[in-house]
Order: sequence, then structure tokens, then C-alpha cells
Amino acid sequence: MMARRERLLGPNNPTFYDDPVHFVRGEGVWLFDADGRRYLDAYNNVPHVGHCHPHVVEAISRQAGLLNTHSRYLHDNVLDYAERLTATFHRSLSTVLLTCTGSEANDVALRMARAITGKHGVIVTDFTYHGNTSAVMELATLIPREDGFSTHLRTIPAPDSYHLEPGEKDETDMAARVLAHLDAAISSLEEAGHGVSAIMLCPIFANEGFPDLPPGFLDRVAKRVRKAGGVVIADEVQPGFGRTGAAMWGHQYSGFTPDIVTMGKPMGNGHPIGGVVTTHDIMHAFRTKNVYFNTFGSNPVSCAAGLAVLDVIENENLIANAAEVGAYAKERLEKMAEKFGFLGDVRGAGLFFGAEIVHPGEQITADKKLAKKAVNLMRENGVIMGLLGRKENLFKIRPPMPFSKTNADHLFEVMDHVLSRL
Ligand code: PMP
Repeated sequence: MMARRERLLGPNNPTFYDDPVHFVRGEGVWLFDADGRRYLDAYNNVPHVGHCHPHVVEAISRQAGLLNTHSRYLHDNVLDYAERLTATFHRSLSTVLLTCTGSEANDVALRMARAITGKHGVIVTDFTYHGNTSAVMELATLIPREDGFSTHLRTIPAPDSYHLEPGEKDETDMAARVLAHLDAAISSLEEAGHGVSAIMLCPIFANEGFPDLPPGFLDRVAKRVRKAGGVVIADEVQPGFGRTGAAMWGHQYSGFTPDIVTMGKPMGNGHPIGGVVTTHDIMHAFRTKNVYFNTFGSNPVSCAAGLAVLDVIENENLIANAAEVGAYAKERLEKMAEKFGFLGDVRGAGLFFGAEIVHPGEQITADKKLAKKAVNLMRENGVIMGLLGRKENLFKIRPPMPFSKTNADHLFEVMDHVLSRL
């Protein structure tokens, strides 16, 4: 199968794990491979309300059996969805543009920022990813590139509450350093004549390694960017739809209100839908200066999927579940870190958490090799999870939202067994 894949799909199409998995079915938090073996899914956030949730499957198939067209005809679904979605935001964020992917949403957000500010400069962290269109790929600082970055891009250090710089004693010191870099990036863009159109950031810095942030940090970031005439784009592709357990959106959890919010992955529970939510003024500036049409964006079937996901989040109290099970799981992981010396910092929020794998004794030296061994062994033992962070040594545990305490117990029983073997 791997050879056929390479022949048909070309090289460099990575799979997870030394021994790739071939799934054929999913149900709730469970995945089943071609041999009928069951795996606990502690990784996938796209099947947000659970793999193949019957309410979402039914909504998609009902609408697909009735009508699927595009946004040039009138349809209630897009309006109903826009209403339901914007009701979860601060009242200033009242308009919606739908896309098919998170990348497209971020691409449009950059164009909106340019339309409203008339400027071009963009600021991101130095270890990030916001998607794969040509424009957002230019912001993908976590992917090494030989040709350097675009002249209108400036980076600030990705916040990291664990690997502090010499002289820093906690995340407050770390945050002050990042803010100083932000001031420098703003000045540099102004001096170069680009000006600041936007900062794009994930409100929990998920791809950067979900660091602990001091309260009010992102509000201070937003104030500086706005003072320079720019807007703040919150990329909610990872923390959105209640993942942190504290609120529907990562920026609400982190305590600031962005000007533009982008979303994707969990939005349709696997059906490809993404979107941008913004203010009336920004949407008007964008729509009057640009023509934007997306053939599949905002079609009635995608909107039916989006509406059904919102129903399940509400009906099954999934945000409260993320808070409760997330807190329980983090506590168990902390206990495990007391037992195993090579488990370092444990952090995260709601159902997005993990631990650094480090060399015992020197708590802040990453052990990527051991981390890789651990996730491969977890897979061998029927639990799906991943790694992330600059040093690829951070356990990434981000299961579908109906993950229960019993599921968490199962995860930690397997993890205890695996880590004991290591
Ligand atoms: N933003 C972030 C933070 C992401 O992690 C990703 C995908 N991993 C994207 C945007 C792009 O989303 P998509 O793959 O749906 O285009």
C-alpha cells in the first residue's frame, strides 16, 4: 500500500508512525483499522463532536439529498448558520465569510486586513503555521526554507513558558521579552514603508507548543498592533469551538477581542468548511474593494454540517465536558510526571494538553527520540496521539470532544505501561 501510494501520489507524502495505520471506520472517540483492531483516538480534532456523529451524518445526507448549490442563489442555511455562529462572538464580530479550508480563511483574512488598513506588513511568531495558500505559506515559519522570508513579514519569538532565556524567572518575564520584540517588529515594518496591516496568531499558540501565558498578555499585544494602525487576526483553527473548555473561542479564553477570526478543522466535523468572522466595517471594506466568490464556500450542505456541529456542542454540553475531563486528565498526567523522570512540563487547557519529554535530571533538554518512541509504542498499544513543538518532544493530546474520564483512564493505563517499558 505504501508503494502504491508513492507511485500514485508522489514522494514526500508523510504518514504518522513508523508502522503507518490504515483506518477504515470511526465511531465516537474510536477508530478501527483494516484488521478490525480498535484504537482510542486521543489526537484528532477534526471529528470534533466524535467520529461519524449520527446527528451530523444525518444533517449532511438529508441536505445532500435535497439540494446542493452555491452562494449565488438564496438559501436559508447560510443565513441560519451565520446567525448561530456570530451569536457565539462579541457583538462587534457580526459578519461571516465562508470558505472550504482554514488556509483559505487565513488568506482572506490577510486580504481583509490590507483592505481596511491600506498597509502590507504582517507579523507572526517564529515557529508557526497558518495554512498552505501561497500567501499564508509565506507565514509558515515552522517549515524551514532556503529562500528566506518575504520582505513584508516580521517575526516575534514564539512564546515558550518552559525554555526560558537566561535571566528570566517566569512567563511574565518571557512575555515582556516577546512584547519588546513586537515593538521592534512594528518599528521595522514602519521604517521599511510596509506599515502594519496585521498580526496573525493562534490564541493558545497551539502549533508553537501551547505555552502558559500571563493574564492579559494577548490584550497587550492587540493594543500595540492597533496603535500602529494594524488589525489582530485570531486563527481559531485549533482552539475554536470550545476546545479549551473555558469558552467557545480561544481568544475568549485568552482574554482579548480580535478584529478578524478565522476557523476551520472542527467546524464541519470532517466536512470541509472554514470561515472568517469579522466586524461590519472590515467586511464592507473587503467586499467593496474585492470580488470574492468561492464555488464551494457556504454551500447548503456545508452549512448543514456546521449547524449540526453547533447543535451537538450545545446538546451534549461538550465545552463543559472538555473542562471537566481536561482538568482530570491533566492532573493524571501531572501524577505520571512525578513517577517518570523523563516527563517534564505538563500544560494545556481543556482537551488540548500534553507533556514535554526530556532527559531525566536536566528537566529542560528535549528528548525527541524518546518522545517518538513513546508515541509509536502508544500506537502499537492502541492509542492514537502525536507530537509537536519546536523540538518535536511535546505530547500532543487533543481528542474528539466527547472524550470521557473513562477514556482518559484508558489512555493513562496504556501510557503507564508504555512509559514503564521506556
Ligand atoms: N491554521 C492553523 C493554526 C493550522 O494548524 C492549520 C492546519 N493545520 C491551518 C491554519 C490550515 O488549515 P487547513 O489545513 O484546513 O487549510
